[in-house]
Amino acid sequence: MPENCIFCKIVAGEIPASVVYEDDSVIAIRDINPQAPVHLLVIPREHVAGLSNLDEEHVEMAGRALLAARRVAETQDELAAGFRLIVNNGEAAGQTVAHLHLHILGGRRFSEGMVPG
Ligand code: 5GP
Ligand code: ZN
Repeated sequence: MPENCIFCKIVAGEIPASVVYEDDSVIAIRDINPQAPVHLLVIPREHVAGLSNLDEEHVEMAGRALLAARRVAETQDELAAGFRLIVNNGEAAGQTVAHLHLHILGGRRFSEGMVPG
């Protein structure tokens, strides 16, 4: 485990989190600083720093994370009308935790553009 990776620590149970879903590949938690009524994070158990670090060896993990996003969303009534899936990659995009994760945002309407409103 890379030292000081907060998401590796959450995956290892060393830092508490509000867990909404778990399987062999991912853990899904509530974001500590929600940007929507429902704001969840799908965190692969395997440490990959970000989308820029994704490679052939991660194809299964990445697919499992996407599938988990669907399953996580299905557990939340407020997401039935739709949700937004976001990956921030790199500092300029707002990535603050260097462990690949998917944001699931929902429970409100979003603007139609690509930038979350
Ligand atoms: P990023 O900005 O890297 O795409 O997303 C990191 C997200 O992790 C942020 O939305 C931030 O609120 C969330 N976050 C950071 N530290 C913690 C934590 O210790 N617990 C939880 N539940 N979320 C965290
Ligand atoms: Zn990590």
